[in-house]
Amino acid sequence: MSAWRDSRNERSLARLRRALPAVFPGGVLAQALARPLIPPTPRRAVEGYWRAHPLRADRLARALARLSGTPEGWAWTPDAFTEGRRASFRAPPAPYREPAFARGPGHCCVCGQPVFRFGWHRDLWGDGKPNRRATWHSACVVAWQLWCDPSGHVQALKRAQGRRCAESGRRLLRSAEIDHRVPLFRVWREHRDASWPELLGFWGRPNLQVINKDAHLRKCAGEASFRADERARAANGALAA
Ligand SMILES: [Zn+2]
Repeated sequence: MSAWRDSRNERSLARLRRALPAVFPGGVLAQALARPLIPPTPRRAVEGYWRAHPLRADRLARALARLSGTPEGWAWTPDAFTEGRRASFRAPPAPYREPAFARGPGHCCVCGQPVFRFGWHRDLWGDGKPNRRATWHSACVVAWQLWCDPSGHVQALKRAQGRRCAESGRRLLRSAEIDHRVPLFRVWREHRDASWPELLGFWGRPNLQVINKDAHLRKCAGEASFRADERARAANGALAA
């Protein structure tokens, strides 16, 4: 196994060295060379870097979204995302994925900013123009995955919390679960008028926590009774009217 890996890594390293431009992000290269299997191309090195740092990708994607800002005339309507089936308020709002606001090739459909070589977010190579074939930043691919399915990145979140339950402070158990501090149904109800880049924070790290199953059950019970109270208030309001 290790002989196989050594010979594979030797070939990958040779390919990577040949393809590597004079300028390349140092952190990405260091991470690529430290991996058990060295990626054979600069593009794969960049993708692997962001996969290894999903929380950094999330922070960057939201910072890039702030640079783009909310497109003029756009408002968050979960139905805009149908793409063949009924979407919901659980999906992160993405104006630049909507045909009416898309910025076209060379721009990222998640954050709206230009995409450069290897899916990088800055023009380190002085190309002076975006890569016309690209529509995603490598970082934004990972951020999007995190926002849509944070359970795939539970290890990174656990590490960021020092392996402590965010509700009880106890040690996180293997069965710990990811939770949105502000549940997504409340984001739609109570925060939908926030600016788009601000909204993304509800899908990203600022609103994600890992909690033990018992703490999660208590929190869900609290949310269910909140929703029941809310329905009762709405019904009373309707009677009073
Ligand atoms: Zn992007």
